Parts: sequence; structure tokens; C-alpha cells
Amino acid sequence: MTASPTNIPVGRFAPSPSGRMHLGNVYAMLLAWLSARSRGGRVLMRVEDLDPRTKTGPWTDLLLDDLRWLGFDWDGDVVYQHDRLDLYQAAYEHLRDLGLVYPCFCSRAELHAASAPHASDGTPVYAGTCRALSAEEVAARTAVRSPAWRVRVPDTGDPQGEVRFVDRTYGPQHETLAQECGDFVVRRSDGVFAYQLAVVVDDAEMGVTEVVRGRDLLGSVARQRYLQELLGLPHPAYAHVPLLVAPDGRRLSKRDGDLDMGALRERFGSPERLIGWLAGATGLAPDQTPRSADQLAACFSWDMVRAHRSDACMPAR
Ligand code: GLU
Repeated sequence: MTASPTNIPVGRFAPSPSGRMHLGNVYAMLLAWLSARSRGGRVLMRVEDLDPRTKTGPWTDLLLDDLRWLGFDWDGDVVYQHDRLDLYQAAYEHLRDLGLVYPCFCSRAELHAASAPHASDGTPVYAGTCRALSAEEVAARTAVRSPAWRVRVPDTGDPQGEVRFVDRTYGPQHETLAQECGDFVVRRSDGVFAYQLAVVVDDAEMGVTEVVRGRDLLGSVARQRYLQELLGLPHPAYAHVPLLVAPDGRRLSKRDGDLDMGALRERFGSPERLIGWLAGATGLAPDQTPRSADQLAACFSWDMVRAHRSDACMPAR
């Protein structure tokens, strides 16, 4: 494991190349970059292309180009998850050797039908259907379909399943793994390692000390801290970024084509005009005057983000 040689913050960008970046991604990247650079820290770049469908797509080059155009830089080479399967395999085997991994044969429809309310990220809370299958049942079902692999979480009432941490934006958080998500997937039925596993392995191996990303991933922290405990990895600090919503309250997404980087580059013409507009709308600057990311770093503080955390505001288009 690479440890940070000093106490300087080490942040990271961790985009998934599943489409062109949109305004919400730009906001998350901006805060990740400002948080580290405003304190003299390092920023690392990791492309989260574990899913074979994203590895060969056109988006990675565009992502890196858009980030450079915006004025962001990073330290060292770009890290690609598809090059790091051995690391995930070793972590997976470690969990398996702890006796905590078991095969799950449930289909998507079965998972939805059997589940209680959904975890904050929309994943059904796993009902434990395949927790106690006999070796014969596992063999019989494996002959019909490949299983996904889940890691067991502590039962309700076990203190190890209670996760508490302080998010820099949203403050103290408390989740009970058994109630929020239940046993969760660490390897998919097609053999691809799950995001939750890869991200803790990568953040630790790269020496990341602070994770800054969209609020939609706040509910993943409990799973990630639990895996860090099991794997003996350090806990980074977490700061989640308010989601941007359209004036009608709808969350902005990659479907809002007019807010993807292609359209934004055309509309604003310069990174300073785009960043100044975004900074003014989200409280990182007093107005929408054109500004570079470097200029914002000179006066950045997380208090500015906390002050706007419930607004998730977006300027009129
Ligand atoms: N790859 C994820 C995304 O693009 C971010 C994961 C993370 O920052 O932990 O939304």
C-alpha cells in the first residue's frame, strides 16, 4: 500500500467513462480539485472503466480532454481500473478467506420482489435469500446460472454493522448495514468486480486521503468503510457534493444533453466563463464573473459548500 509520505491531502478524480461529462460531474471535479489544491495537496486521476462496456468506448479521451480544457491538472499517470484486476482479485480472495463471501443466484426481478425499501442509491436491500444454501444447492444452481458474490454484513444489533462517520458537507452520518443494504455484491455474475470493492482497494493503494464526489454516493460510504475494516485499509475523509437540480427540481443527468461538456464548451467558449458561472451559482464565488479554477483555489473553503448544501441550485438556463 502506498502511504502519503507527508500529511499533505491526496484527492482524486474517479470518473466513469459512460458518457460525456455533464455539469454535475464538473461541479464534483471542481470541488475535488479545489479541496486538494487549495491546501497544497495532490490530485490523482483514476478512470473507473471496470465495466467492459466502458473500457472500449469513446468517452475516456473526451473526459480527459474536457478536464484539461477546464484547467484541471493531476499528478502522475492516469490509472485505469481495467489494468488493476489482480489487486481486486487479491482483496476478493481475502474476503473469501475470511468466510464472508457467498454465491447469490437471485435474478434482478427476484431481488426487487423480495426486498424491503431500497438503499439510498436505489439498490434493493438484500433479503438474505441465498445466505444459507447448502453445498448441494449451490452446485445444482451453479449448473444453471453463474452466481453473483456477496459479502455478509453483520446482523442488526451487532455494533460492527453500525457505521458512523462525519461527512465534510453533510455532517455526522449513521448507517446500519443490515437495514440500509444488507449483504452486498462484491463480484457480479459476469465476473466483473463491483464498484464498492474496487474503489476501496484503489483509494488505499493510491494513498488517497480524501474522497470528494457526488451526493448520490453518500449512501455507499458505510459499505466502503466496512470493506476497509475487513481488508485492513485506512479510512479516507469523505466530502459529498450537492447534486445540481434543474429549476423544476429534477436532478440533472447525462440525459440533459444541453448540459454536457460538448454543449457547455460551445455555449461558454472559455473555461473561465463556464467555471465563473458555476461558481457564482453554487456559492464558490460572490458573482458569476469569469474565473479560473486556480483563482477559486485562492479562497476556497468547505464552509462555502456547506452553506449551499441544501440548495443544490442551478442557475436559470
Ligand atoms: N466513478 C464514479 C462516478 O463517476 C465515482 C466513484 C467515486 O468517486 O467513488 O460517479
